[in-house]
Amino acid sequence: MSQTVISRIAPTPSGFLHLGNAFNFLLTALLVDCEGGHLHLRIDDLDGPRVEPSSVEDIFVQLEWLGIEYDSGPSGPDELFKQYSQQLRRERYSATLEFLHNSGILYACECSRSEIRKLSPVGNYPGTCRLKELDLMQDNLPWRVQVPEQTYVKFKTFTDKVEKINVDQVMGDFVIKRRDGLPAYQLASVMDDLELGVNLVVRGEDLRASTAAQLFLSQCLNDQVFPAARFIHHQLINDNSGNKLSKSAGAFSLTSLREKHQSPVWIYQETAKSLSLPFQHIRALDDLKEVFRSAIQKKDGFENLLKQGE
Ligand SMILES: [Zn+2]
Repeated sequence: MSQTVISRIAPTPSGFLHLGNAFNFLLTALLVDCEGGHLHLRIDDLDGPRVEPSSVEDIFVQLEWLGIEYDSGPSGPDELFKQYSQQLRRERYSATLEFLHNSGILYACECSRSEIRKLSPVGNYPGTCRLKELDLMQDNLPWRVQVPEQTYVKFKTFTDKVEKINVDQVMGDFVIKRRDGLPAYQLASVMDDLELGVNLVVRGEDLRASTAAQLFLSQCLNDQVFPAARFIHHQLINDNSGNKLSKSAGAFSLTSLREKHQSPVWIYQETAKSLSLPFQHIRALDDLKEVFRSAIQKKDGFENLLKQGE
């Protein structure tokens, strides 16, 4: 019997959602829909003081506008803060940091950002503090995880091809506990995914290195969820000058697009276009679902549809 597909959309409330976020959410929802899977809404709000209530609100408003329905997760800001917030999971993250610390693969790092930039202008952290044996209990020192040379992780793509990434090359010894004591994104994200049993991760190709880091961590945690998971790294939606959209990208924020186009049909059509699907007849989310489903059902279309991101 095949496993139920479990996926999630994971916005960070650090600004306003934009067209690229909408594309990611819609693609995830379409894939889950086709596979009769389970979709969870996870809000990455670990960054407590920097989380803007208006950004949290924006997530719920835009998901509703886009017509994206999810099976679990918070229904609004109140439920988020009461039940689902990553703030409520701080102890679990700390326990895992402790576990990794006891495995002897972490070390403290005293390098400033500018020192790291000087030593390695474009690349990864050069491992300066690896052998310094700094006290991990000192305040304000980030913890890094040691990634041995030539460490490869493997994962399955949507079409069950196997992809391999050299973690050392794309991430180096990455930060797992931040200077301010909070768990780093890589740790919180992988722990949340593993606990939810996520077996389909849909993210932009800019997060391929994060996939490598998280697979590496999942191995350190002796996890059995990620080895069976599939990962899709899709192309990013760019602005008119070819730059990646950011959370402050005014004209491409969903709020602005909503004012301009009124209905989300324009976004459904743009999503179809980005996937090289026929878009002219799309008038509702159901139309997009139908176009997507029929492409997925045709073997050729199925391969072509997602290969751009793989
Ligand atoms: Zn260092």
